[in-house]
Amino acid sequence: MTGLSGEAVELAAKTAKHPCYSFEAHQKFARMHLPVAPVCNISCNYCNRKYDCVNESRPGVTSAVLTPEEALAKFTRVKAELPQLSVVGIAGPGDALANWRAVRKSIELIKAAAPDTIFCLSTNGLMLPRYAAEIMELGIRHVTVTVNCLEPAIGASIYHHVHYQGNYYVGESAANILINNQLTGIEQLAANGVLVKVNTVMIKAINGSHIPEVVKAVKERGAALSNIMPLIPAPGSVFRHFPQTSRKEVEALRDLCQSELPQMRHCQQCRADAIGLLNEDQSYKFRDAKKELPG
Ligand code: SF4
Ligand code: SF4
Repeated sequence: MTGLSGEAVELAAKTAKHPCYSFEAHQKFARMHLPVAPVCNISCNYCNRKYDCVNESRPGVTSAVLTPEEALAKFTRVKAELPQLSVVGIAGPGDALANWRAVRKSIELIKAAAPDTIFCLSTNGLMLPRYAAEIMELGIRHVTVTVNCLEPAIGASIYHHVHYQGNYYVGESAANILINNQLTGIEQLAANGVLVKVNTVMIKAINGSHIPEVVKAVKERGAALSNIMPLIPAPGSVFRHFPQTSRKEVEALRDLCQSELPQMRHCQQCRADAIGLLNEDQSYKFRDAKKELPG
């Protein structure tokens, strides 16, 4: 037996308690998202993080942004009230790696207080080549990367701009940097034992027929799971007038891509401050009135 097989056993044990990576776990184990990452380094045309309302549940939405110390305090409170809590994830409201210092500090604080916590983060992947080693050093073994296309010409319709290494890029050059970094980062993580899930937003008119190629390419880079999600035309976003992709269309695409990679079919497209079982958000119970963002 090598050390690697010990790591594989540990990863399998963690995955069995991760409600997003394991269908069986999703009705038994809870996750909480820590909204400690307000800034984003790209602009997706389907995103609007400014809009928040109590009844809204979609990625990018949170009622407050927390400091690492506030995140620890919130975690402690939630853990005491929610015994099924197994996973702490960072899913915005911006990009986890565009706020790396705060994300790392939050994870370090919680790890010191509760070493058996499983951590995961989701990212657009732009900064993965820069931070993959640190992610692994921190002991994070579940990372989600959103990859919507492989071709800069398609990406130019999905992303408005990319901020990278002090420069501002638009159009195909922006998409090209992002796509290359996403694929490189996935490869680096997967080669080092991280379970990579790839989220893909299905924007029917733009990337609908291209998604099978995306799934194939990320599988070749080592991704373990694919999560094709319907476009939610967020109020205030560039795509606000686009039709919402139907569940039927998404399911048909998942069926098509299932032979390449296992498909996550129970994603709830959660808020950046979601708490609880995936289908039973309890984040409203843990909101701090003093920190509520204006609606
Ligand atoms: Fe919004 Fe996420 Fe895209 Fe950033 S990466 S613009 S937070 S959807
Ligand atoms: Fe899990 Fe999907 Fe919710 Fe992320 S958005 S926590 S993958 S169910």
